[in-house]
Amino acid sequence: MKRYVYADNAATTRLSMKAYEAMKPYLLNEYGNASQPYSFARSSKKALKNSREIIARCIGALPEEIYFTSCGTESDNWVICGAAKRNMSIVTSSIEHHAILRPCEDVQRVNGNVQFLPVSEDGLVSVEDAKRSMQNSCGILSVMFANNEIGTIQPIKNLAKAAHQKGWLFHTDAVQAVGHVPIDVHELGVDMLSASAHKFNGPKGIGFLYIKKGIELPPLINGGMQESGYRAGTENVASVVGMASALEENVRVIGDTNLYLQNLETRLLDGMRHQGLIFKRNGALSHIFGNLSLSFAGQNGETLLHRLDLNGVFVSTGSACDSRRTQVSHVLKAIGLEGSLAKGTIRISLGRYNNTDDVEYLVECLGKIVLDNKLKA
Ligand code: PLP
Repeated sequence: MKRYVYADNAATTRLSMKAYEAMKPYLLNEYGNASQPYSFARSSKKALKNSREIIARCIGALPEEIYFTSCGTESDNWVICGAAKRNMSIVTSSIEHHAILRPCEDVQRVNGNVQFLPVSEDGLVSVEDAKRSMQNSCGILSVMFANNEIGTIQPIKNLAKAAHQKGWLFHTDAVQAVGHVPIDVHELGVDMLSASAHKFNGPKGIGFLYIKKGIELPPLINGGMQESGYRAGTENVASVVGMASALEENVRVIGDTNLYLQNLETRLLDGMRHQGLIFKRNGALSHIFGNLSLSFAGQNGETLLHRLDLNGVFVSTGSACDSRRTQVSHVLKAIGLEGSLAKGTIRISLGRYNNTDDVEYLVECLGKIVLDNKLKA
């Protein structure tokens, strides 16, 4: 088989074998509808209960604070649309994923009650800016835990504290962080948190929203009484089981994985320097290990992506959802990256299934391509 290196783990991750095995019975034999009262549905119901407990434990929440959704996008939309229905003001950052930005833009068009905070050149939101922006008596501050393009981790605890001082709620889109950064929602003071299983070696099309007990968020999807009446739709039992299994596994080895990824990152950066490559790394101050946004002046990120692809190396130019656009991403614009550097940016995101051979091959290919492009220019 042709050699390939998958280095786009911020877009999605490989399903864990353990999660796959855990899901199998619920895809084949245990297919009872978890909402039915008869004994054949008991196993599905129990699987949902166990999974909810596992997930809650992994983020320091209570089981009844976990609501299963179809993805991170749904969890984010639930929060923003719920806030809008309650006429709450919304403050968010300018570097959020489109799963937050688009519903916020919709709300902004309807009632003008949304503010977008700027970020520093490292992609950090200022807690002071956030405080100044929360003027109305009730609102939601929503700031992502870690950015999907540049990996920057925000000062979540301080932002949550600032929101509470103003009497506001705090939500974080933690899709890139859950399973990668130790998270305890109570310790951090988070009121709501979005997550998505496919970012932590779970299956695609399943996620969850943590909602702190006592907070009333109107449902986004109305219908049946699943998820205590807050999220209608027959439960995706197999995927919920896979999500819980993957999260439990990732959280158990989180410290070792981060050391491993830190080491791979260092090898990659050293290897590139050794090849004589000149680049700027974006958002490195406080970041998700393995996520590297690299800018090469005079290069074209799209061309780099396609030439790496021809060599069996898969990286991204920005977020996966942006890959069909050719404009500079809103995140690179927000950190004030100069035009030529922004155009020449790729995102390499390493995961726990990558190894040192992958990194060496990636560096070798990137080195050849960048130098070859320079000679042609
Ligand atoms: N939020 C962030 C930060 C993301 O990176 C993504 C996916 O890339 C999403 C939300 C959307 O998650 P999903 O693909 O599960 O809808």
